[in-house]
Amino acid sequence: MSTTRRARHDVVVVGARVAGAATAMLLARQGHDVVMVDRADLRSDTISTHQIARTGVVALRRWGVLDEVLASGAPALRQVTFHAEGRSTTRSVKDRFGVDHLVAPRRYVLDSILAEAAVRAGATLRMGVTLDGVRLDDTGRATGLHGHDRNGGLVEIDSRFVIGADGVYSRVARSVGAEVIDDRGAGGATQYAYFAGLPWPGLELFTEDRGFAGVLPTNDAEACIWVCTPEADARAARRSAGSAGAAFAAQLHRAAPALAQRLQAARRTSPVSGMLRTPNYLRRAFGAGWALVGDAGFHRDPVSAHGISDAFRDAELLAVALDHALRGDTDEVTALAGYQSRRDLTLQEIFDLTCALVTYPPVPEFVELMRQLGRAIDTEAATLAAQPVPGERDLAPA
Ligand SMILES: Cc1cc2nc3c(=O)[nH]c(=O)nc-3n(C[C@H](O)[C@H](O)[C@H](O)COP(=O)(O)OP(=O)(O)OC[C@H]3O[C@@H](n4cnc5c(N)ncnc54)[C@H](O)[C@@H]3O)c2cc1C
Repeated sequence: MSTTRRARHDVVVVGARVAGAATAMLLARQGHDVVMVDRADLRSDTISTHQIARTGVVALRRWGVLDEVLASGAPALRQVTFHAEGRSTTRSVKDRFGVDHLVAPRRYVLDSILAEAAVRAGATLRMGVTLDGVRLDDTGRATGLHGHDRNGGLVEIDSRFVIGADGVYSRVARSVGAEVIDDRGAGGATQYAYFAGLPWPGLELFTEDRGFAGVLPTNDAEACIWVCTPEADARAARRSAGSAGAAFAAQLHRAAPALAQRLQAARRTSPVSGMLRTPNYLRRAFGAGWALVGDAGFHRDPVSAHGISDAFRDAELLAVALDHALRGDTDEVTALAGYQSRRDLTLQEIFDLTCALVTYPPVPEFVELMRQLGRAIDTEAATLAAQPVPGERDLAPA
């Protein structure tokens, strides 16, 4: 057993994917001493499809990493086709808030680009380190973490703040007792797989009764094909089909028969992945010496494809709040309470729409909810585009 213990850092971030890496990058760009730990190797996918809503693309552009995402081979998606009630409508992605396309990079691509940007800004990344618990002092204040590396070596890191960006099953949240403050239950399932061998002209969405499916053109000329359904339908399909692959095919056939037909000429290049029970909840976002960001603090069903954009928004809100607390411009409680109240206010409309979508109302109602979602995303993107970029000053050439 070996112990790794260093001088006290400003911030340790647990989880180095979209929420954690973005938070670390923005804090490091503002001059803070940040360490990220992740038990995973970021050059691997996580369970997630990866449509980035306009807000998320605006965030990537403002942070100066969008070009790198496109250079990875993830195509710029300039058209969206919506298939519903026997009609197909294709629209170009409008040029708004500095972006004229969407993008859906594989997660191993996106997460690595963000983590590398954080490292370039001065953060330290330690992959293969698993957090076992948050260390608390006698007053209950978080003072760092203890965990282990891949060889079983003990890892201890001291820090002024511990950030939980460790996803839906957050151990940081459990360790500090961050309670759920808004629980909207669970009812949806999302499954997906990658396909090759066809042209993928743009993003496509298909809706049928109790089913929503789509095509996300991504890296390596492949497409992520996904299907969202009520959890009960996904479980019933798993029970009656012989395999996850057969259940996925059956559900796709029901939710998007024309797409299922087209895919007969394609080749599936991955196993079927997904989540059969997707919870919808909000946790308290901060306490003495700790804060949560991304799925660790707020989880919503993937039906609205907004988790990555939520993670980016909250990373930025948290990085700004922590910068004030670390510099002593604002006391910690005021700064972090401001983070929580801004997060809770900003996420509300899309959270409500997500919870309404995941009840799978009749198709005309579902389509209307999708329209409202599009408008809400545009409003959110406009607000984000108008904000100063944290750390931008420090990045400007001398
Ligand atoms: C099936 C599915 C489809 C989705 N599709 C979309 C979509 O199309 N668009 C979209 O915007 N969102 C989508 N989402 C949501 C999106 O994936 C999440 O909102 C996003 O990944 C949250 O990012 P995060 O950084 O908070 O957490 P995660 O991406 O979950 O990363 C958490 C990290 O923490 C690490 N970690 C966990 N525990 C520990 C520990 N104890 N010690 C060290 N490290 C730890 C993990 O290894 C992981 O790397 C989807 C989600 C699912 C489940």
